[in-house]
Amino acid sequence: MSRYEENLWIITRDNLFALMEVFIKTREVIAPVRGHGGEVIFYPIETIEDVAWDWQYVNAVLPPKRFFLPQTEVMFEYRHDNSYKITPHYDDQVRMIFGIRPCDVNALIFLDRFFGGGSLSKESTDEEPLFPDSHYIKRRANTFIIAFGCHQPGENCFCVCCDAGPFLEEDYDLQLTSMNADYVVEVGSARGLKIIYGNEHFFRKASSDEVKELERIKEGALNTFADTCAYVSKAIRRITEGKVDDSLWEELAERCLDCGGCSYVCPTCCCYNIVDIALSDKSGIRTRTWDSCAFAGFTRIAGGEILRSDKKDRLKRRFFHKLSYRYIEKNKRHGCVGCGRCITTCFADISMPSVIEAVRRQ
Ligand code: SF4
Ligand code: SF4
Repeated sequence: MSRYEENLWIITRDNLFALMEVFIKTREVIAPVRGHGGEVIFYPIETIEDVAWDWQYVNAVLPPKRFFLPQTEVMFEYRHDNSYKITPHYDDQVRMIFGIRPCDVNALIFLDRFFGGGSLSKESTDEEPLFPDSHYIKRRANTFIIAFGCHQPGENCFCVCCDAGPFLEEDYDLQLTSMNADYVVEVGSARGLKIIYGNEHFFRKASSDEVKELERIKEGALNTFADTCAYVSKAIRRITEGKVDDSLWEELAERCLDCGGCSYVCPTCCCYNIVDIALSDKSGIRTRTWDSCAFAGFTRIAGGEILRSDKKDRLKRRFFHKLSYRYIEKNKRHGCVGCGRCITTCFADISMPSVIEAVRRQ
């Protein structure tokens, strides 16, 4: 029996709705919903009716990274009387993310290495982190992942060129894929299997025909990508070897608005700033907020010196960090998962595919 046959189940749409209502009663469930402007966002739901089911064809404007790395958080409070007392603020909320796409799950694996030193979806990490981030690690451990395989990728998606989709092979709890009116459910972890066995009346085992049909869906999805952005490896080599002339970064810098949008929408970007706020002469809090390497102030050091005051250097650094071998070796993958959000967001057309294309042409 193959791994697929052992782990493939079918759930009908009605049963999925009923199961999700059970989950909503026992944990916070985050899912794609319509925001006030009609955009798709990941947000806590109160009923399964809140889900924007057409999100499968429109990527969410922001990845769900804020449920692991909030835009603003208090990390700890401190008090100084006769000695210092530090009280950490942890988010212990038990969560489920429903409908996360494979690219965004691969971005979490990237963040796992940054914050935790290894893939946190595995039982053991392959390297010990120097400074494990307990805030991120707790949120990650408390979040159950129900991914959706992308049988119909969006027009800006290029995960297929980044080894990040359109389906996951590992690193999820459950992965659902639409098949006719039902969903095929793949099990990717022990806690995923526990959910199936704990709610077995909602599921049935997939037949061998359904196993073959899933393979056909996966093959078919690979043929639907509009832009396969085939020059990623060339850009990686040229950027790593320092063969990209500065004139390219200068030209991009003339267009860049310094808005930071590319960083905020990117599921692998995780630059942050730390600010200590005194609440009295004896107490205070330490806060963390999202930051961006696109901002000049990001490299401001004590004394006011700004290390990358030239916009060209900031852009060069951003793409070096995303694409150079040096960071691929460290993070075990390059820093783009092909979600396409920077294409949608950047007014100046400084998206990952356009930079890769510019590097190829230079
Ligand atoms: S989104 Fe575009 S314009 Fe804004 S900082 Fe990023 S590259 Fe520059
Ligand atoms: S660089 Fe652009 S396409 Fe790549 S992961 Fe970030 S937002 Fe998505």
